[in-house]
Amino acid sequence: MKHVVIVGGGFAGVNCAKKLAEHPEVRITLIDKHNHQQFQPLLYQVAAGFLAPSNVAYSLRNMLVRHPNIEIQLDEIVSADLNNRSVTSANGKTYHGDFLVLAAGSQANFFGTPGADQHSYPLYSLHDAELLRSRILAVLEAANRDPSLIAKGALNFVLVGAGPTGTEMAGTLGDMIHHALREEYPSLPLSEAGIYVVDMGHCVLGAFSTKAQAYAAKMLEQRGVRIHLHTAVKEVEEGHVVLGDGTIIPTHTVVWAGGLRASEFSGNVGIRQGHGGRIDVAPDLTVPGFKGVYALGDFANITGKDGKPLPQLASVAEQSGKWAAKNILADIAETPRKPFDYFDKGIMAMIGRGAAVAEMGAHRYELEGPMAFTAWLGVHVALLSTMHAKVEAVVEWVWDYFSEVKGDQVLDRFSQETIDWNADAGEPPKAQATPAKGS
Ligand SMILES: Cc1cc2nc3c(=O)[nH]c(=O)nc-3n(C[C@H](O)[C@H](O)[C@H](O)COP(=O)(O)OP(=O)(O)OC[C@H]3O[C@@H](n4cnc5c(N)ncnc54)[C@H](O)[C@@H]3O)c2cc1C
Repeated sequence: MKHVVIVGGGFAGVNCAKKLAEHPEVRITLIDKHNHQQFQPLLYQVAAGFLAPSNVAYSLRNMLVRHPNIEIQLDEIVSADLNNRSVTSANGKTYHGDFLVLAAGSQANFFGTPGADQHSYPLYSLHDAELLRSRILAVLEAANRDPSLIAKGALNFVLVGAGPTGTEMAGTLGDMIHHALREEYPSLPLSEAGIYVVDMGHCVLGAFSTKAQAYAAKMLEQRGVRIHLHTAVKEVEEGHVVLGDGTIIPTHTVVWAGGLRASEFSGNVGIRQGHGGRIDVAPDLTVPGFKGVYALGDFANITGKDGKPLPQLASVAEQSGKWAAKNILADIAETPRKPFDYFDKGIMAMIGRGAAVAEMGAHRYELEGPMAFTAWLGVHVALLSTMHAKVEAVVEWVWDYFSEVKGDQVLDRFSQETIDWNADAGEPPKAQATPAKGS
């Protein structure tokens, strides 16, 4: 019986494990530092309190319970020996397989921005989303108690990065602050809230068409979001953010959506890391020079058919997981491996209730509004691993999208209430927002 060790139970690892598990002659050990798979595309909705954590995180044991040849280990891997196809955990346990699959995903990349790692909120895990939700609620409560804190930035929210994560979070915050919470905070002057998106690029949603970018910018501005383009974040401090153009924004809530890199563990696998700290792989998803070792999803630099790198997307991770499983089975059967053939379903982003953009398929057929949401729903539900998760998710996401009802507005991470209101808040914003391209 062949043994496959998989590090990472995200889209790539779970799909690889499930495909392999169809073959009883293969034994799989799936290792993850969390006991659940997290649906990252919707973390921002947990942060905004529109969805409950249980809507975006699924127990790995429950998800894979019908596969007796998959063993799950809750463990954090810290190093790998690719020659031996083994990995070692923080607990000192070593896992060795006939095949080793590295699918440990990604984490925030602060690009050395001073203070960013200490004073901003990344949005890459359920834990991140829960902390951010509590901080958003904590600053609202503090300002409600003491309106003088508004001048110290209590109601300013800065989103670093205008890609899908920053755009989606900004639009959702706009819906939350200027719409959903008005009744709950009748005496709080929510109209004084400032939601800022800051990006070095020339547009929001850079990977999309200029039409979609203009639509997204308009939807953000309708939600009271101020867009600063061509602008870097120079420094993140306890009570303010300094932008490259000298603007200082007093704030205690900075969301980092400014970039990602492979999970830290990629620096400890004994080979040179590629772009973004990721592992460069051959077209068949193997790590060159190491027999039986594969790297997948966000953890790998995978090249598409056109020779360009594939983006860090859930569908790339899911498909690479299934493809790697087929190549492992080919290795076992001693037949040739095949180069990964990615089926491009398109790209999409939700900017807020009733506002979404989608570019469907490799030819990028463009959709906006409810049609784009329907496309988003179809693609993302397909990514979920069990029928139960799919049904539950459709009900929750459709309900959330069309209803006026809020999810869990729960301030349960009490550490996030500790805010240094005496921290230097800088000066009030000087510069006006740079108009977004096409708006
Ligand atoms: C906020 C956000 C929004 C996104 N929105 C979209 C979207 O709308 N559409 C889309 O297609 N994609 C989206 N993405 C990207 C998509 O989520 C990723 O491309 C996808 O999750 C990658 O899957 P993966 O399996 O490679 O990694 P992940 O899903 O990140 O899974 C990696 C797993 O490895 C585990 N792990 C990490 N390090 C270790 C370790 N040392 N030891 C053990 N386990 C470890 C983690 O716990 C995790 O479970 C979004 C990403 C983010 C962060």
